[in-house]
Amino acid sequence: MNPIVSNSDALLRGRLAPSPTGHLHLGNAWSFLLCWLAVRSARGRLVLRMEDIDPERSRPHFAEDIMRDLAWLGLDWDEGPDVGGPFAPYTQAARLERYTEVINYLTGMGRTYPCYCTRKELKTMASAPHLEDVGPVYPGTCLGLGPEQRKEREAQGRRSTLRLCGGEDVGFEDFVHGEIRLGWAECGGDFPLRRSDGVIAYQLAVAVDDMDQNISLVVRGADILPCTPRQILLFHLLKAPVPRYAHVPLLLDHEGERLAKRHQSCELRALRAQGVSPQAVVGHLAYRAGLLPSNEAASPQELLSVFAWGKIPREPVKLGSAIVDTLLRVK
Ligand code: GLU
Ligand code: ZN
Repeated sequence: MNPIVSNSDALLRGRLAPSPTGHLHLGNAWSFLLCWLAVRSARGRLVLRMEDIDPERSRPHFAEDIMRDLAWLGLDWDEGPDVGGPFAPYTQAARLERYTEVINYLTGMGRTYPCYCTRKELKTMASAPHLEDVGPVYPGTCLGLGPEQRKEREAQGRRSTLRLCGGEDVGFEDFVHGEIRLGWAECGGDFPLRRSDGVIAYQLAVAVDDMDQNISLVVRGADILPCTPRQILLFHLLKAPVPRYAHVPLLLDHEGERLAKRHQSCELRALRAQGVSPQAVVGHLAYRAGLLPSNEAASPQELLSVFAWGKIPREPVKLGSAIVDTLLRVK
């Protein structure tokens, strides 16, 4: 299963891949700014991809708001849902047939099996790409089920999750963390490609998109690091080139909590409403990322010449407690 268009051009291609499940906050702005700088400083191309794979959590108005917030920050893209491009569509919900095609291909290779374990039995089977959702290691309970046993479960009205079977320990070079080696079990074992409600799993959609859109550099939050070996395995099975990776440290609130939806005061639209300028946000984030010596206003363009992976910290970065005041004071 080769990529739709072969990955032959040497141009660096990166992507901004927001999930339209909420508004952009400083944590998202932080990873997107670093991604933009990495790609633009190498004169690469940027793709904006809306990861609206989960219909229950995604909302079109969030996608609109996210594009507006990115533009407000001064981050642009060359291909995306609004501007189109050679690999359109750039929304996952419009690519379901393609994901099914790839799933069928993997099934034809004998690399998938239905799993009838219930949510309760597994405790977690979320599609969200976060460390805690890698969940407990799946012990392969349903791998050995024969056709009769499968029929039996189906007759009981059990719906199955489709899992990829058999992984490998994976090593890769990360621009922030250096050499990384992760065991298959550490990554959760046989993982879902399609949930029992029919929703395509994040892992599969992201790997197929990165393959089809010729992505050669993936910059994203370190929370997704444990998912990377799953995606690398998919690239290997699909005979696609593996992109290079940079997992940027998480931005935390002053108490050390990961920024999330409940941090409404850290949403870009809230900061804008308070009179914070985009250059204050960008400059402050760049300062915290080690790209600027002091807390000063900057545009993304102005940071291109100072960007270097070697300056980016490996450890999570904590915001100050009065972040809005800090941003209002940036000159
Ligand atoms: N859409 C994912 C998120 O919002 C990012 C996935 C990725 O960068 O691979 O967290
Ligand atoms: Zn099972």
